[in-house]
Amino acid sequence: MHSMQIVEWGKPLEPRERPTPKPQGTEVLVRVEACGVCHSDLHLQEGYFDLGGGNKLELEKLGLKLPHTLGHEIVGEVVAVGPEAAGARIGDKRVVHPWIGCGSCETCRRGDELLCTSMRSLGARRDGGYADHVLVPHPRYLIDYDGLSPELACIYTCSGVTAYSALKKLAQLPERDIVVIIGAGGVGLNAVMLSRAVLKCKVVVADIDANKREAAVKAGAAAAFDNSDPEAVQKLRAMTAAGAGAGGAIDFVGAPQSAKFGLDALRKGGTLVIVGLYGGMAPIPLPLFPQRVLTVRGSYVGGLDDIRELMALVKSGKVPPIPVKTRPLGEINQVLDELRAGRVLGRIVVKPGS
Ligand SMILES: [Zn+2]
Ligand SMILES: [Zn+2]
Repeated sequence: MHSMQIVEWGKPLEPRERPTPKPQGTEVLVRVEACGVCHSDLHLQEGYFDLGGGNKLELEKLGLKLPHTLGHEIVGEVVAVGPEAAGARIGDKRVVHPWIGCGSCETCRRGDELLCTSMRSLGARRDGGYADHVLVPHPRYLIDYDGLSPELACIYTCSGVTAYSALKKLAQLPERDIVVIIGAGGVGLNAVMLSRAVLKCKVVVADIDANKREAAVKAGAAAAFDNSDPEAVQKLRAMTAAGAGAGGAIDFVGAPQSAKFGLDALRKGGTLVIVGLYGGMAPIPLPLFPQRVLTVRGSYVGGLDDIRELMALVKSGKVPPIPVKTRPLGEINQVLDELRAGRVLGRIVVKPGS
């Protein structure tokens, strides 16, 4: 099989040929049709997350060994099944849920795989989809995408489900509230598109890039603000009842400035959901939390139930499709560079063998 792999941290991916694996036990071998390119691939390629203050979370310490094949938004066709892989049939066309726990601990058994302490996620711990084949540990991670194009369907397994599960954390907000979506790149734009189906209230967007603001308004955001404008918080608050602020904010960037913008935009009792992994540290005045009754919570990708709910929602036609562009897998390094430079609107998927 052919893969584009990280061979050295921080260096371009390299093409490699290996024998195609034979599925054992419950494993399923999927021939990759397309794989979405995600912002988190950039961090994985670098080999660390920036914890701020000069501290790094190194992926090698989390058990990620090189060489490694990135790519976690995978769609393809089942081409071989292990002897215990009940329910998967050769020829099935499926998207692959990549956020996989150990499967045997108590947390995994009760269905909270995302909280497992021994994750084996595809394209993040195990080899992923920047290849012509990928080995999936169990048929339960395969999801039917009947009626959608494979290129669109695959991006719901990360970009889509990340947006969906973050929005769900604010689904209780009443109609009169607003939610601020900070960062309208691939995931943020997906959140704008999903917001009508998940939230009762409207969303506004904050992004420093005028093109991304325009795309977000076209996608249904009620307004868009330039968060580098020192008056942006004031303008945003002016849109809310009595200028009180937003009931919720979702930070799809995860940088000190974006988190601060989110907290400043909140009303009393508001919730900031942090999703982005840009990195850094945010010094925040602690008395604000009790005085303004604020909540800060994290949201990481989504579970198997979330992806199933989301696929049903998308199939029902309630979610407008996100713009997707297709490129050959051989161009993956250029695509990652474009993403790093912030030049990508919507989502790019790569196709092997092209
Ligand atoms: Zn991702
Ligand atoms: Zn587990």
